[in-house]
Parts: sequence; C-alpha cells; structure tokens
Amino acid sequence: MYCAWHNETTLLTLSAAPWLGGAATGQRIARPDVRLLAPCEPSKIVCVGRNYAAHAKELGNELPTEPLIFLKPPSGLCAHGDHICLPVQSERVEHEAEIGVIIGQRLRNASSAQARAAIFGFTCVNDVTARDIQRKETQFTRAKAFDTFCPVGPWIESELDPNDIAVSARVNGELRQSGHTRDMVFSIENLIAFISSVMTLEPGDLISTGTPEGVAPLRPGDVVEIEVGGVGTLVNPVEQGA
Ligand code: ZN
Repeated sequence: MYCAWHNETTLLTLSAAPWLGGAATGQRIARPDVRLLAPCEPSKIVCVGRNYAAHAKELGNELPTEPLIFLKPPSGLCAHGDHICLPVQSERVEHEAEIGVIIGQRLRNASSAQARAAIFGFTCVNDVTARDIQRKETQFTRAKAFDTFCPVGPWIESELDPNDIAVSARVNGELRQSGHTRDMVFSIENLIAFISSVMTLEPGDLISTGTPEGVAPLRPGDVVEIEVGGVGTLVNPVEQGA
C-alpha cells in the first residue's frame, strides 16, 4: 500500500501510487504500525556507471564521454531494514551509495527540461555489487543482479533540487562515501534525458545515478546506511547467504 506523510507520526493511505494518480483515501495510520516496503515498483531499474570522476579513478576506469548505463532487475529490490544477502558465488560484495530518482511521467526522447519536470522524487539506493564478478565479466548483469542487491528507501522526497543533493554511506557507523550532485559527470536531468533517448521511461521507474568514491567490501554482521540529504537514511544489515 502506498502512503503519504501527514506529519511526523501519521501517514495517509493512498488509493494507488502517487505517480499513477493515487489520492488520499481518508484513512490514517500511525507510523509505528507500518512496515516499510521498497517505495516503488519499477518496470526497470536503470543504473549509471562512472558518474563521479574520483570513483571512476579508484576502479581504474577512464571517464565516459557519454553516460554508461546498465540495468538491475526489479527482483533485486529490498526495503529499509531488510537484510542484504551475500551470495556464495562472490568473495567481494561492495556497497555503492547512490541518489535514486523516481520517474513520475512517461518519457521518450525528453529534453533536459522535460526530464526535470518528469521527476516525481528522490530516494536512497544501495547499488550492491559483487566486485570480483564485475571485474572478471564484460557484462555487469550478474555482478549487479543478485536478490537483495538493490535496497531502496526508506521513502521518497519530492521537494528537492536535482542539482543540490548530497549522498553518503556509512558502514557500522563509519563514513565510507561522501558525494554531491555537483561532483557528477552528467547531471540528473541530462542522465534522464539520455536514458529516455534509448528506452521509454514509465511512471514508477527507478534511476540510480552513480556512486562517489569510497566503495568497499561488506561482511556478514555489518550494517550499511545510505543517506541522501533531504530524504533520510536507508539502513540494511548484511548476512551471509547459503
Ligand atoms: Zn552504482
């Protein structure tokens, strides 16, 4: 069920996702009675590689001259509080703190201005990556696609300037990554416009806009926090998969 914040302790239930015309039903729920789910049901999750110069450098990559995009499957989604499960096939799984964008309107061949106008809101994404698998394969798909490799949430904030957002990662309370949209190679509007020149974006689709430097391994028992300024903090514990 989709809800909107009424105040700090109360939510209003919506008849559908807000980008699909959902409206308040009149029912109210107290925040402690709610278990948060991933705040969107995207038809696709489009991710951007090497969109911060310092991160491209730390992995030994050149800066792209046009956006480098790849997909994560919706089956990888998990919510605030869910466990990130380390698959047995990998010995090095890393966090990637990213600003997530929820698309609010269908977009095809959009200009940057049209792209900006079609943003519904922003959320926190952890683009969890099996780095050893990514390094040995040409395609990113397997490295990025394990179940639980796309924590998203805890909710969506719609009132942010897409060119003035900070993003950070902490593991067990220690700061690992800290970035800002001003450090991006391609701005959020330009990324969305570019992606829409390839594939039609649908309301509810999720764009993950790349990660700043400082990616590092996760171990069972760790707790990862992804914070996006103006949104909040997405928290996920890490466990070993069977
Ligand atoms: Zn990423």
